[in-house]
Amino acid sequence: MTEIEQQHLSDLRAVQEQVKFFYSQKRKVKIYHGSTTSTRTQKFEKGKFVDVSRLDRIVEINSAGPYVLVEPNVPMDKLVEATLRYGLVPPVVPELPLITVGGSIQGGAGESSSFKYGGVHDCCLEYEVVLGNGEIITASPTQNKDLFYGIACSYGSLGIITLVKLSLVPAKDFVRLKYFIVGGFDEAVGLIEENVGEAVDFIDGIIFTKNRGVVMIGNFTDKNDLPVSTFSKRSDEWFYLHADEISRRHDAYEEIIPIKDYLFRYDRGVFWLGRQALSFFKIPFTRLTRFLLDRALKSRTLSLVGQATSTSQKYFVQDLCLPKENFLNFLQFVDEELHIYPLWLVPLRPAGSLDKLSPNYILTDLVINAGVWGKIKGDYFNVNRKVEGKLRELKGRKVLYAHAYYPRDEFWKIYDHSWYSQLREKYFASSVFPDLYDKTHVSEKYQPSVLSGIWKVLRSSKLSVS
Ligand SMILES: Cc1cc2nc3c(=O)[nH]c(=O)nc-3n(C[C@H](O)[C@H](O)[C@H](O)COP(=O)(O)OP(=O)(O)OC[C@H]3O[C@@H](n4cnc5c(N)ncnc54)[C@H](O)[C@@H]3O)c2cc1C
Repeated sequence: MTEIEQQHLSDLRAVQEQVKFFYSQKRKVKIYHGSTTSTRTQKFEKGKFVDVSRLDRIVEINSAGPYVLVEPNVPMDKLVEATLRYGLVPPVVPELPLITVGGSIQGGAGESSSFKYGGVHDCCLEYEVVLGNGEIITASPTQNKDLFYGIACSYGSLGIITLVKLSLVPAKDFVRLKYFIVGGFDEAVGLIEENVGEAVDFIDGIIFTKNRGVVMIGNFTDKNDLPVSTFSKRSDEWFYLHADEISRRHDAYEEIIPIKDYLFRYDRGVFWLGRQALSFFKIPFTRLTRFLLDRALKSRTLSLVGQATSTSQKYFVQDLCLPKENFLNFLQFVDEELHIYPLWLVPLRPAGSLDKLSPNYILTDLVINAGVWGKIKGDYFNVNRKVEGKLRELKGRKVLYAHAYYPRDEFWKIYDHSWYSQLREKYFASSVFPDLYDKTHVSEKYQPSVLSGIWKVLRSSKLSVS
């Protein structure tokens, strides 16, 4: 056994002991790993969570597989850094570097290659799982198959993932990105539908106004024979502002982006939420303020600030998945009811028949996700309920990392309660892990605490524990 495998075993045993203790006490627990991208305010109290934060190692990269054996608390930037040394990357790399392997599987994360591969969980070959009674099992398409598929997007409500065998694909040094400027929703959606296919590696889109947007189509390349743009240095422009500028000045545009800059292009400014953060603190939104506050406006810091200050109910932050047939109708609704721009569009492969909790478990041949993140007018709860109603009407699903306000009975009409409850019973989850509804439903009105929140973030780069 290698040293790293021994360390894994030792930390696995520690997680197992914690779970066994809570199981013996019949006490429900949370899962703590030191960070989160969720917008729900997370409160961790000593003695009321299982700590998996030490599971942050890359155990093996097998270039023949090719696959990586990785612990759940490895963030995307660390994972990509390691696999790129072998000329490989995970097929789906969520755009924000702080997102962890475990969180991405449990939270249904996807990105601009998801039209081909689905979510991160669709690229997983096997999990090591600590069940609610502390038993350690393997879940794969051939062993404990129901748990293997069911655990994706279950938000830690079916077991704790402690090791992941994740497939890898060959990578190249750059992405050649073509920008197609579009004059409206239908043109954007039409272009996305036309281009999803084997010939393309990445597709996403940004709608800046009802009449102007951009669809971006990328392919891996070794050649840097076009202008090269980077998005990781503080002197670089934020990616969405760069795309916005292109959409104003060109009819079409093409450039080369180094692979890591492409994968994490939305980190600085967290797509465009950093702009809201500056406005909240009444700081002008200029190139100079973005330069000076660069570190504070990256996803790692902004997500901590959001958690520590409990300000998420000041904004509407949701990823909403719809069948392509109903997507235009939904964009129209967002335009009329929410008036939020920009919007992020990303096509996703529909989930398989056993991934029942997945946000792309939708009957269609293409799901499109809308990232709708911004300020809204009107009563927060009512607006959220209206969106939830529209989503049901259009046969869509939320990505549950954000706020859900469904009444319990309505929620369980969307997700298969009987199948889910049986899975929880079978794998001893019911008495230890809160269920999906309780984990994702927001029942309280958060009391923002801006100054004490900022103070917490200045003192620690980890999610606080009280
Ligand atoms: C502004 C914003 C932008 C986003 N952009 C993107 C994007 O571009 N691409 C994308 O794919 N996603 C995006 N997301 C969503 C993100 O992928 C999900 O929130 C994801 O779940 C985050 O993972 P995390 O590592 O932060 O995990 P957490 O938020 O900490 O965890 C998610 C859930 O998984 C559970 N969990 C964590 N680790 C384990 C484990 N080892 N075993 C069992 N359960 C576990 C937690 O209890 C929790 O319920 C975005 C979210 C926000 C707020």
